[in-house]
Amino acid sequence: MKLADVDVVVVGAGLAGLSCARHLMNRSMSFIVLEADDRIGGRLKTDVLDGFLLNHGFQVLQTAYPEARRQLDYHRLELKPFAPGAIIRVAGKFKRISDPRRRPRDIWSSLTAPVGTFADRLRTIRMVSSARRGSVSNLFQSPDMTTLDFLQSQGISEKMIERFFKPFFWGVCLDPVIQASSNVFKYVLRVFAEGDVALPGQGMAAIASQLAEDLPEEAIRTESRVESVHPGGAVLTSGQTIKCRAVVLATEGPETLRLLGKPASMASQGELCLYFAAPKAPNTDPYLILNGEGTGVINSLTVPSVVATSYAPAGEELISVVLIGHLALDDKTAESAVRKDLTDWFGPAVEKWRHLKTYRIQHALPAQTPPIPDPTVPSKSVRPGIYVCGEYQSVPGIQWALLSGRHAAEAVIKELAEPPG
Ligand SMILES: Cc1cc2nc3c(=O)[nH]c(=O)nc-3n(C[C@H](O)[C@H](O)[C@H](O)COP(=O)(O)OP(=O)(O)OC[C@H]3O[C@@H](n4cnc5c(N)ncnc54)[C@H](O)[C@@H]3O)c2cc1C
Repeated sequence: MKLADVDVVVVGAGLAGLSCARHLMNRSMSFIVLEADDRIGGRLKTDVLDGFLLNHGFQVLQTAYPEARRQLDYHRLELKPFAPGAIIRVAGKFKRISDPRRRPRDIWSSLTAPVGTFADRLRTIRMVSSARRGSVSNLFQSPDMTTLDFLQSQGISEKMIERFFKPFFWGVCLDPVIQASSNVFKYVLRVFAEGDVALPGQGMAAIASQLAEDLPEEAIRTESRVESVHPGGAVLTSGQTIKCRAVVLATEGPETLRLLGKPASMASQGELCLYFAAPKAPNTDPYLILNGEGTGVINSLTVPSVVATSYAPAGEELISVVLIGHLALDDKTAESAVRKDLTDWFGPAVEKWRHLKTYRIQHALPAQTPPIPDPTVPSKSVRPGIYVCGEYQSVPGIQWALLSGRHAAEAVIKELAEPPG
């Protein structure tokens, strides 16, 4: 079918592309979103398998994200929160560490967990308070360093880093060597302290569906991979060309580089995520479980069906296990290594757990090596008529995908409204 010429071609229907499209629509711009995949959502997708909801990897919505609050209707997403804190597997036991302000009844367990000293806890509270002070822009403009250097500069002990911050940071930034930006880490501390970590009742894909629901159906074309772009148009792999006044690239960082004709220079962080069905949940509180043992392949474990019952059919539980830094393992080897760890943790009950599916995500996030740019600064066109949003020249995450999409739309609207010359 011939595609009509439009004001704007948006390449990619992840959160950044959808956010951009919504803002273009609100300003009566004609646009088309071209998506290579057979569905929208980009990295935020959910499969339905035998009544289980399987998100593509361990993904959550941090409810304090300002741009998510602005663009999403949380009530209709049926958000279900995790408990504020984590359970750490350490020295052969599970220990609960909670935010003392939000879960005072766990204070004893938190204080006695063998993950660090009393001074570590005070220093952590100080770090969190400092991360919450001032504007987000100031936070990102502060001196940046690796998170490991930052934690050491704050006087956090090696034990606390090994047993708590490393597994926590792996889970959040998928970075097994905690070399990612300390400013990203500080922002993570800030949003964890200011809101919940939650799952939408119908899966993470519901976020993209909500963003897309008001867009005209004909404005999103799936299975439409863009081969190249130039000022004034985009060429699909099918050979079709669409003429436009501006192009917005809302693709993953490495693909944005390719479309801009730049050398591939973005390192990726990935993960393996294995799902199991179990007759009984190994823990009945909605906590994230982190591996602080320093051994084994598992980074974290959650039971999404304990957080939101909609994630599993009646009488069954859904278990999600994440591995960081083990993409080289094939699926079979990964499953048997995971089962070995799980049996150490939960005993023979694990034999009854049925493997449902393994997700292998090569590019989940880019490596966020310091210094990273301030993602609150609106981007300009990278070339005449070509704009970018998403993680390229910004920071990965739901907050920044939504914000950068809006910023790109605002920049396009401003430029197209200005008379040439
Ligand atoms: C496992 C995992 C866990 C995560 N956990 C969290 C979390 O807990 N909290 C958080 O805030 N963030 C999390 N993230 C990050 C967050 O999901 C992403 O930063 C965000 O969804 C990126 O959105 P985007 O629109 O920028 O890019 P994407 O979602 O990657 O969308 C890009 C789109 O462009 C399409 N595309 C690519 N090339 C072309 C082409 N040539 N032509 C047409 N279309 C093309 C792709 O198919 C895709 O749909 C996680 C990501 C992963 C993978």
